[in-house]
Amino acid sequence: PSLEYELARRQSRRDADELWRFVRGELTAWRKDDSSKAPPVARRLEKLQDSVRQYHAVIRGDLANLTVADGWETWRRREADQLADLMRRRIDFLQNPPDCATAKKLVCNLNKVCGFGCQLHHVAYCLTVAYGTGRTLVLNSRNWRYNRAGWEQVFQPLSGTCQDAGGRSKAAWPAPVLGVGLIQRPPACVCLIQLPATVCLIQRPPACVCLIQLLSSQIIILPITGRHLPGTADTQVLTLPIIDVVSPRPPYLPLAVPADLADRLARLHGDPSVWFTAQFVRYLMRPQQHLQNDLDAFVKRVQLRNPCVGIHVRRTDKVGTEAAFHPIEEYMQHVHEFYERRQMEAGGGDGSRRCVYLASDDPSVFQDAVNKFPDYTFLGDPSVSKTAAVSSRYTDASLRGVITDIHALSLTDHLVCTFSSQVCRVAYELMQTMHVDAADWFTSLDDIYYYGGQSPHEQTARFAHQPADGSEIALSPGDTVGIAGNHWNGYSKGENRRLKKVGLYPAYKTRDKLRVVEFPRYPEVPL
Ligand code: GDP
Repeated sequence: PSLEYELARRQSRRDADELWRFVRGELTAWRKDDSSKAPPVARRLEKLQDSVRQYHAVIRGDLANLTVADGWETWRRREADQLADLMRRRIDFLQNPPDCATAKKLVCNLNKVCGFGCQLHHVAYCLTVAYGTGRTLVLNSRNWRYNRAGWEQVFQPLSGTCQDAGGRSKAAWPAPVLGVGLIQRPPACVCLIQLPATVCLIQRPPACVCLIQLLSSQIIILPITGRHLPGTADTQVLTLPIIDVVSPRPPYLPLAVPADLADRLARLHGDPSVWFTAQFVRYLMRPQQHLQNDLDAFVKRVQLRNPCVGIHVRRTDKVGTEAAFHPIEEYMQHVHEFYERRQMEAGGGDGSRRCVYLASDDPSVFQDAVNKFPDYTFLGDPSVSKTAAVSSRYTDASLRGVITDIHALSLTDHLVCTFSSQVCRVAYELMQTMHVDAADWFTSLDDIYYYGGQSPHEQTARFAHQPADGSEIALSPGDTVGIAGNHWNGYSKGENRRLKKVGLYPAYKTRDKLRVVEFPRYPEVPL
């Protein structure tokens, strides 16, 4: 190891010790100090909080030095590039079959009734399932609410060879399979099936037939055989419904990571499932040249530079329905902390004004921020056309607005936002494709990262925990916990699967459990 590495390693240990000595010293002194001349508790607490924040910034700075000094940065960069390139080549291979007429396809309709981030995630889910089933994704984007002319006018087409959804056999995503025990053979015909599907029974003994109408309006007629239905693996063209109703649920849904890359990803990245999703999102968002030109011109015009913190303030229709109102001060507190940490890492500020890229669906947020925080330089374009999801005026201009904001946010060094918004989650995903590991480059004021419709997000307990009161749950090392959220105060909330109890637990006592799933390994694409 280098001298720098050894020094940084010892320094971080010393700083952690000093932090504890300081906190212990302060608290012990308080306990003993009952004199009436002692400063008021509120002032003492404020001082303590300030000091601990600085200790934290220093420790983070040491850890950043450790990463630089360990000598593995070149390896990390190369590994990140190779993995991203591998995924891109695999998706290219999947999306460009030599013969579209015979290729197995998955059709995805871009008709989900929601905002741009939500629709993009809908298509990313389709592409993930396409990758998992080895089917070429055909996107049907006619009459897209954001751009009537379709997806391909804005982004590059998903395929150069295969955009035709035709084929010799077609079906909806495999219908829920009839359970053996649920079916009685003739003459008593009974037909039971899981939703979402409407079921009619045609009783024509001696042969009973189930008529199943799926949500996709497709009608499938199934003879009651008392056996599982034949799968649709052989069907050439399958149509995938939205993630919220897909049944049976494919194993490939986020937060799954492919078994053949899991070890490499776990080594490289702080959140492998986000990294994996990000590869699909990046593929989908490859801009057409005119959009690329616009994005480049925008970044130049607003003079976006680094370091800069990206703030996304989601207001309008979201507030009070799906998310709470957060004042600008709350976002700015985290911006302040980011720059304090940055200063410790860099060993002093560079003297330039602190940069914030501000995006919001509510243009009044800009003036509010500029008035209240004159020491910061706020970048962004309040005039960029906004579309509250509530208004049905989806136009090309509003599409450009949100794409531009997402792009600019993804170019920053840290995001402060509400992860309940898909706009910020998309920016965060894109951010992962530009850096080796930007997993912790965010502060969410509400949710932890999630993917709508995902498989359960689980963690493993690292340490035992005894509940301090009725709001907490017990943990034993190795327990599986289904995490619901992080309260960002040291505690997460979730269900201990073994005890079947929901409650709070110290977040540091668990770590994320990777959901490793066998996806196709694409042997045709060289590693
Ligand atoms: P969510 O509702 O925040 O989870 O995200 P969606 O993308 O599904 O829907 C919100 C829609 O509101 C976006 O697609 C945009 O049309 C608009 N919007 C939200 N935030 C912004 C923003 O910061 N900038 C712009 N230009 N539009 C936004």
